[in-house]
Amino acid sequence: MTEELSLLARAFEREPPGVALRWALERFGQDARIACSLSVEDTILVHEAARVGAELGVRPRVFLLDTGRLHDETLVFAERVRDRYDVELDVYAPQAPLVESLLKKQGFLGFRHSVAQRKDCCDARKVEPLRRALAGARAWITGLRREQSVTRSDVAVIEEDASNGGIVKVSPLAGFTEAQAWDFARRNGVLTHPLHAQGFRSIGCAPCTRAVAEGEDARAGRWWWEDPSHKECGLHGRGPR
Ligand code: SF4
Repeated sequence: MTEELSLLARAFEREPPGVALRWALERFGQDARIACSLSVEDTILVHEAARVGAELGVRPRVFLLDTGRLHDETLVFAERVRDRYDVELDVYAPQAPLVESLLKKQGFLGFRHSVAQRKDCCDARKVEPLRRALAGARAWITGLRREQSVTRSDVAVIEEDASNGGIVKVSPLAGFTEAQAWDFARRNGVLTHPLHAQGFRSIGCAPCTRAVAEGEDARAGRWWWEDPSHKECGLHGRGPR
């Protein structure tokens, strides 16, 4: 399958995102799960999946990880997305015993003290729920872009995901720049998160995400106290853990 995926990845590289999404929904139906943080990249996926899904007669399955630390604006926006798009929206929350043990060990802000503690928090609040979100899935679809960070520079439009049991990972926007993503969103009337208009160039947990100044790197708004080579939460199996 790897060879077929590489060929498809190359073929879809310059196509609009709906092409890779159509392939994934046709091939895997509801066994393809769309990861959604509600960033502009992810609402593009939801918008396009709803459109393509309606044509194919497939109701796309989208999942949101409610880490328990999201901005209020994100929760309000999630309801707007739920109302606007005809998709099945599944929400996964962290398991209470894992969060209780994390809080006992490192308190409410331990993730600021070391990369290891931050990764423990991401493991409990994101990585473990992701495993449940992908249970039974044959593919997942993400809004990753190569331009986003050094840890994402080799993302392919379609690839096998060794860190999630070898299922197929589809990233239709892999080759997009941030400007291209916004251009696509505007031209197609995609619903966009209101925090973007306040300088948030990525959407994540409230204590670990901030607005960035003009000219600053987009990922400077995530875990700004860490070295850029560590800035992955473990969802995408890249970067040192
Ligand atoms: S982004 Fe921050 S608050 Fe969210 S899970 Fe990771 S360390 Fe915890």
